[in-house]
Amino acid sequence: MIQAPKGTFDILPDDAARRERIEAQAARILGAAGYRRIETPAFEATDLFERGVGEATDIVQKEMYTFDDGGGRSLTLRPEGTAPVCRAYIEHGMHKLPQPVKLWYVSSFFRAEAPQLGRYRQFWQVGAEAIGSASPETDAELIVLLAELLEAVGVKGLSLSLTSLGTPETRAEYREELRAYLHAREQQLSPDVRSRIDLNPMRAFDASDEATRDVMRRAPKLLDRLAPDDAEHFAEVRLLLDDAGIRYELDPTLVRGLDYYTRTLFEFSSDALGAQSGVGGGGRYDRLIEQLDGPPTPASGWAAGVERMMLAADELPVQGDLVDLFIALPTAAGVRPAFRLAREARRAGLQAQLELAGRSLRGQLRHADRIGARYVAIVGEDGTSLKNMESGEQRETSAQDVIPMILRGSRLV
Ligand code: AMP
Repeated sequence: MIQAPKGTFDILPDDAARRERIEAQAARILGAAGYRRIETPAFEATDLFERGVGEATDIVQKEMYTFDDGGGRSLTLRPEGTAPVCRAYIEHGMHKLPQPVKLWYVSSFFRAEAPQLGRYRQFWQVGAEAIGSASPETDAELIVLLAELLEAVGVKGLSLSLTSLGTPETRAEYREELRAYLHAREQQLSPDVRSRIDLNPMRAFDASDEATRDVMRRAPKLLDRLAPDDAEHFAEVRLLLDDAGIRYELDPTLVRGLDYYTRTLFEFSSDALGAQSGVGGGGRYDRLIEQLDGPPTPASGWAAGVERMMLAADELPVQGDLVDLFIALPTAAGVRPAFRLAREARRAGLQAQLELAGRSLRGQLRHADRIGARYVAIVGEDGTSLKNMESGEQRETSAQDVIPMILRGSRLV
């Protein structure tokens, strides 16, 4: 038996109905704030992600599905949505439009990660990007919109972590300071942390052993090193969030797996999830457009995982489709008028289904009952009768009268 590849899954109809609800909430909430939908290709030039996401990141180093297109060009299945949206912004000259350009998407992404609950190799994200605005209001608004989406979807046990990364220059200086601090205390650090001081000193903040944690509690924090205008920007974001009643925790050690962030950085987690507790997050990426050869353009955005949102929300019952009319065929003689009736009923806005399985009339009526059809039209050799499945009433009619009668919702007798 051939199965779906490891780390991928089928979206069966009930699941698709739940996803549609999330998509509809995203369309409503983001649409009301002036975000318009965009869709970019499932694969892009590999270079886009190497330059956009960052060569040193895990995503680029280990998680990309990269292939040759047969003509010597390297392509990659998109592992995230921000770099492609920025590529589209540049390619279509969107800097000439009124700024910021506010875009949203719901698309699938691909990462060769070790699969586990909430972590897949093909997964879906709802994302929003506001390109062309440096204002703290943009960041605060994006966070508020994501909070509203998560709430509307019913995600439980939410918390928000927030920090500011300042500029890459501030960060580089800070990393030097942290390295020196850690080197001066090497004996107190775990061997693992010690071996990574030069490679990635920030990882030390995630250490679990008590001696290292003790050292880290007193370590210098990036938030205390921000340049005055970055600090002011961050203060304004916080003020607006406070005003909006959004609770957050300052987490100066927050890091996300993408290199392009500057200033505001945030992540929503849910305690209803296991190890993979991140539901959605994002931040400001003021240098990315320029890095991709566009004009210097500040921007900010987020992405939230559709499967994680579904895992962290109560499973709402899915209602089956409402079937207005089932068209039963006691004999083959009724096929052509029945086929016509089905088309006309659908054109009139009804959900109409035709018998397709060659069942006996009894079997067809049982089937109509099982799918919850409101009416059954029995199209036979010598006429048509219409049965109201709720009342059980049935009466002879003509094929032309079936649709008007259902539309009127009239009692048959
Ligand atoms: P990121 O693009 O890494 O910032 O991820 C944004 C959100 O996408 C996360 O908070 C998750 O909800 C979701 N996500 C990221 N990677 C995966 C994955 N491999 N499987 C399922 N969801 C994911």
